[in-house]
Amino acid sequence: MPSVVTYWVEHAWLPHPNGPAVQPEVLITAGPDGRITGVTPRSGPCPAGAVRLAGLALPGQANAHSHAFHRALRSTVQVGSGTFWTWRDTMYKVAAALDPDRYLALATAVYAEMALAGITAVGEFHYLHHGPGGTRYANPNAMGEALIEAAARAGIRITLLDSCYLSAGFGAEPTEPQLRFSDGDADAWADRAAALTDRPHARIGAAVHSVRAVPAGQLGTVAHWAATRRAPLHVHLSEQTAENDACLAAHGVTPTRLLADHGVLGPRTTAVHATHLTDEDVRLLADSSTTVCMCPTTERDLADGIGPARQLASAGCPITLGSDSHAVIDPFEEARALELDERLRTRTRGHWTAGALLRAGTSDGHASLGWPEAGRLEPGALADFCVLALDSVRTAGPSPVLGAETAVFAASAADVRHLVVGGRHVVQGGVHRLVPETGRALADAVAALR
Ligand SMILES: [Zn+2]
Repeated sequence: MPSVVTYWVEHAWLPHPNGPAVQPEVLITAGPDGRITGVTPRSGPCPAGAVRLAGLALPGQANAHSHAFHRALRSTVQVGSGTFWTWRDTMYKVAAALDPDRYLALATAVYAEMALAGITAVGEFHYLHHGPGGTRYANPNAMGEALIEAAARAGIRITLLDSCYLSAGFGAEPTEPQLRFSDGDADAWADRAAALTDRPHARIGAAVHSVRAVPAGQLGTVAHWAATRRAPLHVHLSEQTAENDACLAAHGVTPTRLLADHGVLGPRTTAVHATHLTDEDVRLLADSSTTVCMCPTTERDLADGIGPARQLASAGCPITLGSDSHAVIDPFEEARALELDERLRTRTRGHWTAGALLRAGTSDGHASLGWPEAGRLEPGALADFCVLALDSVRTAGPSPVLGAETAVFAASAADVRHLVVGGRHVVQGGVHRLVPETGRALADAVAALR
């Protein structure tokens, strides 16, 4: 790769003192450190030596919540009916077939699918740590290392959110499938996770799987680990009312209150789902500046309910987006679902602007994953962006000035033509340059688990 790369895009959604706006004929220059050194709108025609990209450049999308192996469940879990909990049993069967090599192959293909969808950074909420029955691999972080390597092979950034997962429920020992998730106690989790190190494309964060999976007395250990490293800390929160009921029965408080009382909430923390909250829970999350990650396509797939995203945002919580179970991988679908779900619930329109929804998927998403220098097209930021076609059957017609509205309310992942990560052209003309046969790679990796 040349040390400096200049891209010329037909249009780009750029920061502006009056709010982000679409600008024409934009030169974006990436320096040898992978950061943007210049952004010049209205630059005239593409100059010689620049890489010409047709369409609309947006900051790279941050997929703030992923379990890569759930991709192997696609369609399989759409047969018949069932509940969240029967879905989980199917998910455990897939997990049982994974080892580090198979997970490397699967995650590489899944992250390549994400790159093709415009995603430049993934937050991988990782809890499948150990071998069958809980047997330690020779390298106890072999599975986490496989995920970090998979992101490198797919050309995207990763924040490995290493998850502490110790119990089946309040006061319950892990079940057989869950033995692969457990380190025994939070101190052992902390020792293992401490051996993971940042790379140029990878950062390490922590996760509390849920208040079900980490005993209350050990929540503080995970929170302290993340605090001393100033690392992101993520936690599944109140996705199902059953979790709230069990927490109230065990501790007499809601899961949000339990997390607050043990120092888990705060500005580096992201609560994932937050579907079933009391007004007091919303206040605790907002007062602590906790981010909330909504995963609308998974939440509707699992019949979780519609989380109070607008109420949380109005109270002061940054909102981010994740594809979670990968029922689909499409950041534009996640973004529009936030607004459209709210419209169905309230029978009124206009809760979020397209710009606010893009912000959730870009700058706020990256910040929640510990990449605050990504998610904006401006000098100094990481040169991470995607380019959407404005001439597809979905996106043709509207004026390019309405590019944000087109991206959020009409485009799909299939409209992503280019992806640039750290100045490197990873997706070119809708083809992944590192994993060119991405569909085949997905098919082979999923078939290997059957
Ligand atoms: Zn999840």
